[in-house]
Amino acid sequence: MTSAIVIGGGLSGVLAATALSHHVDEVTVIESDKYPEQPAPRRGMPQGRQNHMLTAGGAHALDQLLPGTTDLLFAAGAHKLAMGRNILTLSSEGWFRRVDDDAFFIACSRNLLDHIVRQQALTNPVITVLQETKATGLVGTASRVTGIRYEQGTEPERTLTADFVVDATGSRSKTPGWLAELGVPELHEEFLDAGLAYAGRLYEAPAEAAADFPGVLIQTVPNTGKPGAGAAFMPQEDGRWIVSLIGTAGGQPPTGEDGFMEFARNVGHPIVAELMARATPIGEIKGSRGLANRRRYFERLPLPDGFLALGDAVTVLSPNYASGMSMAAFGALALRNQLKSHGLEPGLGKKVQLDIAAKVAGPWKSATSTDRWFPGVRTNIKLGKGTVEQKLAVRWSRTAAEHPGLLKATYQVATLQTPQNKVMTLPLMGALLRGPQQAPLTPAEALAQFPQLGKLLSSAPADLSKVEH
Ligand SMILES: Cc1cc2nc3c(=O)[nH]c(=O)nc-3n(C[C@H](O)[C@H](O)[C@H](O)COP(=O)(O)OP(=O)(O)OC[C@H]3O[C@@H](n4cnc5c(N)ncnc54)[C@H](O)[C@@H]3O)c2cc1C
Repeated sequence: MTSAIVIGGGLSGVLAATALSHHVDEVTVIESDKYPEQPAPRRGMPQGRQNHMLTAGGAHALDQLLPGTTDLLFAAGAHKLAMGRNILTLSSEGWFRRVDDDAFFIACSRNLLDHIVRQQALTNPVITVLQETKATGLVGTASRVTGIRYEQGTEPERTLTADFVVDATGSRSKTPGWLAELGVPELHEEFLDAGLAYAGRLYEAPAEAAADFPGVLIQTVPNTGKPGAGAAFMPQEDGRWIVSLIGTAGGQPPTGEDGFMEFARNVGHPIVAELMARATPIGEIKGSRGLANRRRYFERLPLPDGFLALGDAVTVLSPNYASGMSMAAFGALALRNQLKSHGLEPGLGKKVQLDIAAKVAGPWKSATSTDRWFPGVRTNIKLGKGTVEQKLAVRWSRTAAEHPGLLKATYQVATLQTPQNKVMTLPLMGALLRGPQQAPLTPAEALAQFPQLGKLLSSAPADLSKVEH
């Protein structure tokens, strides 16, 4: 009889339990929170109140782990938004032209996504979830983890043994300390903190808004000497919209009524504020802070056998890059693939940890080399000058704004389907060398690419005294 424990029943934990369920007799998920019966917020998932988009790469990994999941999401009202066709983007270097391309994001509430994933995964008879149960430590030695310590309510601490333990407790994981208690050398951790913060709210879309209403992204602009300020506006299930306003150190978005609208009016373009003014707010404005990039190098440790860390417990990428959920799915998929080849044999954890590190390296480099240019950044990473990289990024973005091929390549990278170092072809290199050839789109030209926006914006703003709860 073989068994595994997964600590943390968020997205990484539930997907890791699914991967393990095909190779062990019993999987126990330890979750400190209580799951809601319906798609709804929960204490252990505070970020669920902000805009969450799942990349095409992440969606594909999710379907490999739990076939049919994305179809269920679409049936429940999730939107498939092709970046080129269905999202109006104001990048750091101008408005992107609309292009016919299939690289997509799935837009729906995080509550719906997690609910459907749990429904798909937790009917598996091999998996048991102990809810309202908190892991308090690992059991074993520096060479092998053999179980965990946990607490349930007011009961004294207990232990549970297993052949394999996965840490999926997210960004606040206590594993570095727990491994140190077993005598494992110190875990190297890097962080880069631009002081990023979100303020988000749900809206009832106006009746005139078409079902295929586009999303809008106003990206934060680094390297201007001023704090980054951006906005994400996305359609959700049940005729709702979500707006997350985004700011960095010295310019974080407020959560008060007036300040929230004022902030939206002053990001790169006021279109999101205009849309907010035509919709009915639902509930309060919610803030999220402490959103630093953070990477823990588990793969460099002499890792004890029988142990693995996944998801945000390993790497937190600033939410601006919409990649955390996809990384959770990639990590669980790496576990499944290594289990297929090697079963639970010694060294499994280390192999998966190396696979995860390889997957995370590109997005980590790209996130940290962009976020370093916001004012007030704090980091323990030894950064080079980075000026050549910065110039290349600006040229790339400026050229992509008008060059369909380069724009499609950008979308392939952003939706985590092709890594940045694999996307370049000779013609694209040529386009990059030539740089931009046309005048950038004016705001009016950019908006005119999405007739649904113009149609709605010509209607009168809603009565903002109406707030649904
Ligand atoms: C504001 C914001 C916006 C974001 N937007 C996006 C986006 O657009 N796209 C995207 O892909 N990602 C986004 N992310 C990232 C995404 O939310 C995370 O990457 C993802 O939730 C990570 O999943 P996880 O399961 O690894 O960790 P978590 O989601 O943090 O789950 C950890 C689980 O472990 C449980 N737990 C913790 N400690 C214990 C313990 N001791 N014992 C038992 N259980 C425990 C918690 O209750 C929780 O259920 C965003 C994040 C934030 C903060």
